[in-house]
Amino acid sequence: MFKHENKLFINGEWIDSTNDETIDVINPATEEVIGTVSASTKEDLDKAVQAARDALPAFSKSIKKERIDLLNRIADEYEKRKDEFIDVMTMELGAPKTISENVHYEMGLAHFRTVAKALEDFSFEEERGDHTIVKESVGVSGLITPWNFPTNQTSTKIAGAFAAGSPVVLKPSEETPYAAIMLAEIIDRAGAPKGAFNLVNGTGATIGDAISSHPDIDFVSFTGSGPVGTRVMQNASETIKNVALELGGKSPLLVLKDADVQKAAQSAAEHMMLNSGQVCSAATRVLVPKEMKADFERELVTSLEGFPMGDPQNTSNFTGPLISKKQYDTVQSYIKKGQEEGARIVQGGEGKPDGLETGYFVKPTIFSDVTNDMVVAREEIFGPVTTIITYDGIEEGLQIANDTPYGLAGYVAGEDEKSLKYAASHIRAGQITVNDAKTDHLAPFGGFKQSGIGREWGDFGIEEYLEEKAIMGV
Ligand code: NAD
Repeated sequence: MFKHENKLFINGEWIDSTNDETIDVINPATEEVIGTVSASTKEDLDKAVQAARDALPAFSKSIKKERIDLLNRIADEYEKRKDEFIDVMTMELGAPKTISENVHYEMGLAHFRTVAKALEDFSFEEERGDHTIVKESVGVSGLITPWNFPTNQTSTKIAGAFAAGSPVVLKPSEETPYAAIMLAEIIDRAGAPKGAFNLVNGTGATIGDAISSHPDIDFVSFTGSGPVGTRVMQNASETIKNVALELGGKSPLLVLKDADVQKAAQSAAEHMMLNSGQVCSAATRVLVPKEMKADFERELVTSLEGFPMGDPQNTSNFTGPLISKKQYDTVQSYIKKGQEEGARIVQGGEGKPDGLETGYFVKPTIFSDVTNDMVVAREEIFGPVTTIITYDGIEEGLQIANDTPYGLAGYVAGEDEKSLKYAASHIRAGQITVNDAKTDHLAPFGGFKQSGIGREWGDFGIEEYLEEKAIMGV
């Protein structure tokens, strides 16, 4: 169905894999196979890495203006294919059309534009007394991405790498490979130098594993789950490769005592439902003052009515299915576990929502009377499931907020500016959002603690793909 579905993009050309085997790609709303993608081999990867190595000398020394123009040409080509991106996101991810457009399409585009802008002001050389610091490409970069934000994850990495003059080999998720194939076509049309961008589809066990241990790859940027991130870091350590890891989260939404309950509940509902809850930075632990619990539960139930779930092709739906049967089973097991642990279901529960028997749909589920030691409060569920935990006083709220192995994001709702600032400065996480402030794609994104290593987006995303060199005497 897709022109280059079983092809690899290596050294500026669409080629066949050395392996005839393919992997099925499934539409999670219909459970139907919509196409296939190559199950590439280590040999295919070697070709891609060689192409990137060959591109490195010229690309890493290209002038800044050329790279700014390249990023903007990619963004121009990307814009031309807006409708196709929306269709592909809806088909391979199950994202409702409006979310495909306003979130997935827009985020993918935003990174190319903001990084191009950040590059204009970015300095690669700094005089420091008796020495000069020069920032140079880190070298060939291996990119491994997950399925939950297929355009955002690939674009942020490619934009940062291209801005730094670093050639890449991308292995996108085998569950959502078509947005990455479109991106390869776009980069090709935009006239990227041969070998600067290479796409090798395949499984994590074969291609992902080989990228993280490849002796000719200098740097790996991985976004995905914690256990795979650990494996990537272990593999990379064999060749002293630097890694950037963007991993999971269990982020708190700290609702302060002077917060508008209705607004805070609206925000919690959106976190629950956006991308079917499959968002690494979603607020999935909602911390509310004890005395607010009953009001908050009631408002959250009401707010959920504004986030309808159903057929992703229907533009009035906000939420679609989960990505796969595997993810459906995982989320079901957490809903069961929460009940066994003594959490109370306010709404939702096990099984499929009425009328949505086909597709990996789950019932939006609110747990209350949750304590922070329960599995549903500690582990990333990655579905439309939230947990309400009560606290007594801001210090206890902050203590619960930080009592997690993760530190990707934090959210605060309230009125008093001093308390909001205090809370924002005491939550240990990479991005704090106060009162639903708008996303800024120039702001660095990445995690404290087990949420990862490194920062993406804007100028911080360019730094990821650079090494510092000190020069003395000239
Ligand atoms: P995953 O870890 O299963 O897979 C991610 C990628 O790694 C895929 O391309 C997969 O094929 C590959 N992979 C699998 N095994 C591998 C191996 N042994 N070596 C190398 N690569 C391998 O994650 P997922 O299920 O695709 O994505 C969901 C996870 O991603 C969640 O935990 C979520 O929180 C996280 N995530 C984090 C961020 C962030 O920016 N922090 C953003 C999005 C998603």
